[in-house]
Amino acid sequence: MNAANAPLVIVGAGHAGGRAALTLRAEGYTGRLILIGDEFHAPYERPPLSKGLLQGTVELAGFSVCDSTRLVELDIEHLAGNPVKKLDPAQHRLQLADGRWLHYARLLLATGGRARRLPSLPGHLHNVLYLRTHDEAIALRDSLRPGTRLVIIGGGFIGLEVAATARTLGCTVTLLEAGPRLAGRVLPERLSSALLELHRHHGVDVRLNVVIEMVQGTTRAEAVQLVDGQSLPCDLIVVGIGMQPNTELAVAAGLEVGQGIRVDARLRTSAPDIFAAGDVCEFRLHPQGGFQRQETWRNAETQGHHAALSLLGREQSFDVIPGFWSDQYDWGLQITGVIANGEPTVSRVTAGGGLLLFYLDAEQRLLGACGWGQGNSVAKDIKLCERLITLGQPLAVSVLADADVSLKQLLRS
Ligand code: FAD
Repeated sequence: MNAANAPLVIVGAGHAGGRAALTLRAEGYTGRLILIGDEFHAPYERPPLSKGLLQGTVELAGFSVCDSTRLVELDIEHLAGNPVKKLDPAQHRLQLADGRWLHYARLLLATGGRARRLPSLPGHLHNVLYLRTHDEAIALRDSLRPGTRLVIIGGGFIGLEVAATARTLGCTVTLLEAGPRLAGRVLPERLSSALLELHRHHGVDVRLNVVIEMVQGTTRAEAVQLVDGQSLPCDLIVVGIGMQPNTELAVAAGLEVGQGIRVDARLRTSAPDIFAAGDVCEFRLHPQGGFQRQETWRNAETQGHHAALSLLGREQSFDVIPGFWSDQYDWGLQITGVIANGEPTVSRVTAGGGLLLFYLDAEQRLLGACGWGQGNSVAKDIKLCERLITLGQPLAVSVLADADVSLKQLLRS
């Protein structure tokens, strides 16, 4: 088979890969389409894994991107549990774990990432769990019982969401963070403090600036020993220390890889006819900006869609305002745009003790915003901020800070 009549192939049947496959069919591609995954499930979204699925309020069918019935209806060949082991860009082909070689006309790499392992932990302790996949979430859910003494290593979003869910289920939770504040890589000081207060209010024993000496136990973790001499007895450990992008295939095949597989504005990698999307790729948010990876639902959704258009030879550049959310207890955090430059320029306190933080550039144009509030209370304002970012008009600081002026009014004026 030559490349011209070979199928379109997607490696990674996760969120971005699933979205790309659906988009290809929705855009009228009728040729052979193969979606290869190393999980046994049809593509699904991951946010509920640390929230509703853990709590038992939603099951896999409730957050699938495309279930197996739909894959069959759309004639998308799903090769499940059969990861790609090798790429051969020169020959436009790849090798599956079962040894078969497949040719492709064009290829999308949407291999996401895996939970980063804590190197100092012995690998054989069966009550040390990680959270990235549905099956890992089910294993964790089965272990969260009222009274379970849970130690969470890592005060990022996964650790915090697991802490919130575990407290709701009646577990005793200690959360260990190596840095001086929670979610400190992403959030400004005020929101880290708000998270700390919320978790302590709900009874989580949050410890900052913690250094772990060792985990005690032979087949099961029995206690976490800290360098300051304290020993924390536990029934279960969850490690949430970030994600490791699955770039190995691309590296071995000689593609350009930095923090992720490097792509241009059309999500093309350095190899002909190979594209990348989602958590695994690094791209420029702005033509003059540096390369970055994003680990968000919105990025997987929009890049999956965009990569499909690129696979079809469409010319448009990927250009989306980034966005992220996290739910903990009955509070919600939402971020839009770019908030990478540390502390916000302006803030306003919203009804119910929430916060809106605004990030402006030197010309007072909105670059990004964070909202923190009960339930979904900041969602509307964050949507309005997105429109203000798109508008790109200078904004008066005093007006932004004034909770009596609605953002809708501001947008109208
Ligand atoms: P994935 O969804 O990880 O899919 C990649 C797929 O490729 C996986 O199935 C993987 O097994 C497979 N694969 C890897 N290597 C191979 C191979 N060689 N061959 C075949 N298949 C392979 N984002 C938010 O914005 N808000 C949230 O609240 C939020 N909560 C989250 C909670 C959890 C627990 C997790 C894990 C993530 C959360 N995210 C959230 C992030 C969001 O879910 C991810 O950014 C998104 O899933 C990334 O999609 P992806 O398709 O790039 O990767």
